[in-house]
This record gives sequence, C-alpha cells and structure tokens, in this order.
Amino acid sequence: MEIDEGINMKSRMTRRELIRWAGMGTAGLAFSGAARILGAERPARKPNFIIIFADDLGYGDLGCYGHPTIRTPHLDRMAVEGQRWTNFYVGASVCTPSRAALMTGRLPIRSGMCNDSRRVLFPDSAGGLPQSEITIAEALKGQGYTSACIGKWHLGHLPQYLPTNNGFDYYFGLPYSNDMDRVGGPGRQAFFDPKVEYWNVPLMRNERIIERPADQNTLTKRYTEEAVRFIERSKDRPFFLYLAHTMVHVPLFVSDDFRNQSPRGFFGDAVEEIDWSVGRVLETLRREGLAEDTFVVFTSDNGPWLTFDQHGGSAGLLREGKGCTYEGGMREPCLMWRPGTIKPAVIQDLGTTMDLYTTILRQAGAEVPTDRVVDGLDLTPVLLGKGPSPRDTVFYYRGTRLYAVRKGPYKAHFITQSAYGRDKPVEHESPLLYHLAHDPSEKYDIAKNHPEVLADIQKEVERHRSTLTPGADQLAARIKKDG
Ligand code: MG
Repeated sequence: MEIDEGINMKSRMTRRELIRWAGMGTAGLAFSGAARILGAERPARKPNFIIIFADDLGYGDLGCYGHPTIRTPHLDRMAVEGQRWTNFYVGASVCTPSRAALMTGRLPIRSGMCNDSRRVLFPDSAGGLPQSEITIAEALKGQGYTSACIGKWHLGHLPQYLPTNNGFDYYFGLPYSNDMDRVGGPGRQAFFDPKVEYWNVPLMRNERIIERPADQNTLTKRYTEEAVRFIERSKDRPFFLYLAHTMVHVPLFVSDDFRNQSPRGFFGDAVEEIDWSVGRVLETLRREGLAEDTFVVFTSDNGPWLTFDQHGGSAGLLREGKGCTYEGGMREPCLMWRPGTIKPAVIQDLGTTMDLYTTILRQAGAEVPTDRVVDGLDLTPVLLGKGPSPRDTVFYYRGTRLYAVRKGPYKAHFITQSAYGRDKPVEHESPLLYHLAHDPSEKYDIAKNHPEVLADIQKEVERHRSTLTPGADQLAARIKKDG
C-alpha cells in the first residue's frame, strides 16, 4: 500500500510542479536559470545535479581543508569557484545509514536503515532501502530527469534494492564495501598490502555482475570514465549523477598513474586520484557547455577510519573519526559549485546531506514528500548568498540511539562511546557540553556554566522525539542458507 501511495504522489507532481513553477520565489527562479530569461516564452532547462560522494574521507584530508601534503588542485579550485562549507554533517558515522540519509532526506532511524550491532549491510544481509522510501532519483524522475548511480551503493545488494529499482536509470559499481567478501590475504596485514584477489567483491552493471573480483586498482578510473560518458550522453535533458567513489575506504587501491606519487603515501595517492576524477567531471561540464546549468556537490559519507593507521584519513582538528558521534565521525568536507549561480564563499552555517535532498528537489521543481517526516531543509538561500541556513540543529545518532545534539555552536553529548573499541556506551546523567566554535576539538566540557543551554537542547530532543516513528529494522535480517 505504501508503494501505491508513493506512485500516486509522484503522478500528482506534474500538476503541482506547474503550480509551483508559477508561484516560485525569487530564490528558486534564480536557481532554475529562469531569472535570466524572464519574459521569454518558456523557462530555461532545469538544473543538472551531481553528487560526488567519497568514502571515509576525513575533514582534514583535502588541501582546501588544510592538509599539508595531500595535493587536491581540482577540489581546491572548486572550493574557490564555489562554496566551502565548514559545518556540514552526514546522517550517520558509517556507510549504510549515512547513504540512506542522503538518498531519502531522512534520518536513518525513520527508514530503519540502522542497527546497533550490525551497523551496515553485509553480503549476507537480506534487507535494504525500503520501497516506500522516495529517493532523490525517484523524486526527480517525475520531473523528466535521467539518472545514474556510479560507484558504491550499499543500500541493499539483492535485486529489489539495487539502484535500478530505486529510481536510477543506470548503475555501474560495487553493491557494498570493498573490504567485504574477504577470501584471502594475511590477516590484518592484507589491508596494508592489499591485493585484488583478497576480496571477492562484485562489480555490477545495472542488475548483472560483470566482474568478480572487481579489479579495484582501476575502479576510480573506470567510475570516472562512466561518469564522463553519462554526462556526454545526457546533455540534452536534465540529469542527476550520483558518483559514489569506493575510495578512500580501506583496502586502498589506485591506478598505476597515481601509485607512489603523493607525499602522503598510499592514502594520499588514493585521494589525489579522486581529485583527478573531480577535475575530469568538471572539465567535461565546461567542455559541454553545462557548467552553469549543473549543481555539483562534493562530500563524503563519514569520517576517517582511524583504526587503519596510515591507511586511514584524518579529521584534522576534529575529535575522533568514522564510527562515532564526535565531530570527526560526522562532520565532512563539503564543496558546492555552480558557476554564475552559487555565490563563492566559505560557509560556516550548518548543513547536512539530508538538506541536499530537499535542496535538489526544490531546485528541480519536485514536491518534497509531505506524507512523512523529511529531515532535510532547503539550503538555496545560502547557495545564492541571499540568506542564512534554515538549519540550527543537528542530531547525532549511533545506530538507533540519539547520542548527541548540536544547536547553534553548542553540542550536548548524552551518550559517548569510542568508534571501534570494545567499550560500552557511557550514558551521561549530566550531559557533556562543548562550544564547537570556541572548541572544535571537543576538549572542554562547559556544562556546569550553561544549564540554560542544556535545558534548551533538552527541549529540542523532546520536540524531535515527538516526530519519531522508528522504521522497521532493515539491517538485522540475513539471507537464509540452505541446509
Ligand atoms: Mg564510509
């Protein structure tokens, strides 16, 4: 029944879209490109959207975010030509729930894409993104968009959960993480001297496995070639490209052109190849005359995997990394680019990947679903340099539990736990409080001096909880084995 409701809602969009078009505010008009041709017979084409999603890239891993030895000239240029966000968050600190948040605009607790012990989907998982969720690709389909998912999916590998059954017209990539399907190699050392044959991960095109094990050395390069081809063949209609790199998730792999090139070592090689890839995408847009019509976002799904020593990245001055609710786990580099429309700036306002959902849908003239709670907010005023971010609160979940809340510059931790240690969660009867603007590394607890701030955040928690209906768990079920 939920599926039918979703379809009905989508079919109603066309009429609503026309109404929306007629009544669009100036922000939306400017973003759609229609402002430039006011008075003309028909609106300019709808903007294209590209989300480039790195994997496990930390806040401190790009030149434009202060890394001293990783060279990222293409991303640095993108940062100068567009907006570089310094308080941008993901919906969870590990892959599957973070990707669910991006794709649905909703906290993973609402879609059921989170679990406290099996924190992501595995090759033996039976679940995936529920059909009742409306992905960005599904919402844009009603607006005449063509779309491709290129790269890591990790929202369910069984046929019904693949990108092609979630609104995407085309899929090329790995259905889950590149460290899964382990079949060989010397224990933990395999990660530090990785060989393709140690991980039997499948490379898929649409619903078919085309290579197994995937030659991971050439993945970044092949994803990039696929992305360029998709842009070239889609240039005559609006498109949405979700380019989700497998790198820089361990085990690290790079093509020969990038091997042993970076002063930062193997990890630097992998980041620099991603930077090259971003350069190729932006260069293709410029060459095809699409740069001014295309909104490109670069960010990552979660913070650096610190337990992998030099093969993991860096969260810079932020505390901790992937897997936890300290800033290093969930605050990410984020660049937003569309020459002529997005006002170049460094943005300290709050934003999240869920906001990309709402922002993109609004800019495409698509209806943001109203039959469910959508956590995303429209960041368009910030992008146009016309106003502040509508967001002042961030919820930090670990699995199904709310660990921390940020409001304005203040962050309260109700529960803390290290990323991957065996320690149990510590519940703070009296929450910890940090001022993230003064103390980005979360070192100095100021709770005692600010009971009024804690009381205010407590009210946010109650408001939030009143909107919450947890979705049925999608991560616990395993495929039943015969015999
Ligand atoms: Mg990840």
